[in-house]
Amino acid sequence: EKEALKMMVNAKSITTDGHEVELAGNIGGFKDVEGVLKNGGEGVGLFRTEFLYMDNDHFPTEEEQFEAYKAVLEGMGGRKVVVRTLDIGGDKKLSYYTFPEEMNPFLGYRAIRLCLKEQDIFRTQLRALCRASVYGKLCIMFPMIATIDEFRQAKGIFEDVKAELLAEGVAVADDIQVGMMVEIPAAAVLADEFSKYADFFSIGTNDLIQYSMAADRMSENVSYLYQPYNPSILRLVNMTIKGAHKNGKWVGMCGAMAGEPYAVPILLGLGLDEFSMSATQILKARKVVTGLSYADMQKLAEKCLNMDSAAEVLDYVQSEVKA
Ligand code: PEP
Ligand code: MG
Repeated sequence: EKEALKMMVNAKSITTDGHEVELAGNIGGFKDVEGVLKNGGEGVGLFRTEFLYMDNDHFPTEEEQFEAYKAVLEGMGGRKVVVRTLDIGGDKKLSYYTFPEEMNPFLGYRAIRLCLKEQDIFRTQLRALCRASVYGKLCIMFPMIATIDEFRQAKGIFEDVKAELLAEGVAVADDIQVGMMVEIPAAAVLADEFSKYADFFSIGTNDLIQYSMAADRMSENVSYLYQPYNPSILRLVNMTIKGAHKNGKWVGMCGAMAGEPYAVPILLGLGLDEFSMSATQILKARKVVTGLSYADMQKLAEKCLNMDSAAEVLDYVQSEVKA
């Protein structure tokens, strides 16, 4: 089994009927790059930059961040790297910054909401990213986008920072893609409109499920509501994919669902373009993808969208597919 998986390191992620997808890795920093490559990752689908901030006693400087992003882009050797801008707040706190007291931090001041208010923090990160962009293939995405106005504001600050650097004579890649995470149901529902502005989406199912089911992802008491296979979640994922494709944009998924062997067939059938997961899950996912027919999975996914419950979906997929 292990040997068979090793054979998949350099294989394409392609179905029996020729539909190709991309399997990428989630990373928290440069230390994780080797693992992604060793396990056949075709790119990085999520670089969680909050660790640069959390494992620190000060806001990382532009220079410190530049070095970190450059190392990852170079380490990935020209493969696509999707960097998520600062996603702090909720349960992720900083020792050197005081967050406002809130009843519901997961519904409060966090991620892009904080970055749009504290623009110095955001601009420093975007400057470092733009400077690093010439060392590889960079995609930038904003976390926790709820409205098109937020996306346009964030993208506007990016454009501003980029123009500022160019005016300073600093090189910036001209092909940086700027996209967003879809992890708030409002964004999933309006995906066809968002995709007029965003270059790509990456679906964050960890939060998308939490916000759709109104169930705190940290609470054991309601953990039964964490249901990736619930048809309501599948429909939101479907709306996101179809909405993006309508405007010719690609869609990834970087939540834990993307690496679940029985979710992969459904997501494939729904038309997901990129799957990003822990490095250790990549080869198994490739084995699953290469054993499936896209045409069959499209039919399977369509059926799943019209079922009643997560249990029914999972039973069905397990009866149809060996993963
Ligand atoms: C997600 O919400 O699915 C996600 C990938 O982001 P995080 O788990 O870091 O919130
Ligand atoms: Mg999230």
